[in-house]
Amino acid sequence: MKILVPVKRVIDYNVKILLKADGTGVETANVKMSMNPFDEIAVEEAVRLKEAGKATEIVAVSVGPSGCQETLRTALAMGADRAILVQTDTETQPLAVAKILKALVDKEGPTLVILGKQAIDDDCNQTGQMLAALLGWGQGTFASDVALGDGSVTVIREIDGGLETVELKLPAIVTADLRLNEPRYASLPNIMKAKKKPLETVTPAALGVDVAPRLTTLKVVEPAKRKAGVKVPDVATLVDKLKNEARVI
Ligand code: AMP
Repeated sequence: MKILVPVKRVIDYNVKILLKADGTGVETANVKMSMNPFDEIAVEEAVRLKEAGKATEIVAVSVGPSGCQETLRTALAMGADRAILVQTDTETQPLAVAKILKALVDKEGPTLVILGKQAIDDDCNQTGQMLAALLGWGQGTFASDVALGDGSVTVIREIDGGLETVELKLPAIVTADLRLNEPRYASLPNIMKAKKKPLETVTPAALGVDVAPRLTTLKVVEPAKRKAGVKVPDVATLVDKLKNEARVI
């Protein structure tokens, strides 16, 4: 059983985001980039399924500029078998990525695609859902547990009201939530081994996908600064302020 794991290169979650002076986006020059944290969880889950003898091959995919090779090498060092870079310098939006992934699914024939639930740069939370719709496959989004059965996969989903269990016919789409697992750090020997694993580069055009952005960013601005809070001496004052100043109770 083959598993496809899409991994996005994003600004590292520890970096303080700075806006470009002209308001067209965020500064990415000389900024540390890393694999989207939810994608690390997706790779880890795929590797665990392989270690448990339930999967035979893990293919990591990234859509973006040549720098994504580094992200793919990280996936390979964590345990993916081979990688595909769909190289483009055009800004990648979820629909374009979903179309590219569909083309790769048609070519590679995986039984399971495990994505992150969302990319922490744009916070779109759309690609997995769009891919499921394009393929007509079942989807288990926000997964906190994945159990492969015979011809099906059982996914426990984190939803607003608690947990929901769904059983999907394979092939299927799963998107990883935070509590699914704790991703491993790649060991030095595995980082060295990953350098020799196959990494193929293709273009969106070769897959027959037009990646031209469908969405236009008008302006990117900082959120309004929060006002300083106040300390209240007791509960009575707090209740009074909530009632008469904030008027929320
Ligand atoms: P999003 O819908 O943008 O929040 O992304 C959800 C998930 O789709 C990510 O966690 C990745 O698994 C996958 N994804 C999105 N963009 C890309 C990309 N450019 N390359 C590879 N995977 C991506």
